[in-house]
Amino acid sequence: MAKDYAVKFYKSAAWQRARDLCLDRSCWICERCLEEFRDHKRSMEHVNLADVVHHRKYITPRNIGLSSITLSQDNLEALCDEHHNREHHGTPQRYGFDAEGNIICRE
Ligand SMILES: [Zn+2]
Ligand SMILES: [Zn+2]
Repeated sequence: MAKDYAVKFYKSAAWQRARDLCLDRSCWICERCLEEFRDHKRSMEHVNLADVVHHRKYITPRNIGLSSITLSQDNLEALCDEHHNREHHGTPQRYGFDAEGNIICRE
């Protein structure tokens, strides 16, 4: 869930455009799944579609006004939920988060 200070940003047309561009660029496929597939760490049927566009350099209240951080394609990455959760919470693959932020086990 977006933090309060970021809610307005995530609703902006500029963000929607940057997000769509990033998803188009990655063909709606998770960039990290694809990387693992290329490294033979993941099979093709386990390559996920992208669910979110992640900021490599996280958005903070300090940089939310900097379009070089928030809107630059260089700072955006299309990720599946699995990789996004891992990035932010460092949880093993078999765990995820539900809509309320509770940890769920996928086994
Ligand atoms: Zn992925
Ligand atoms: Zn993220």
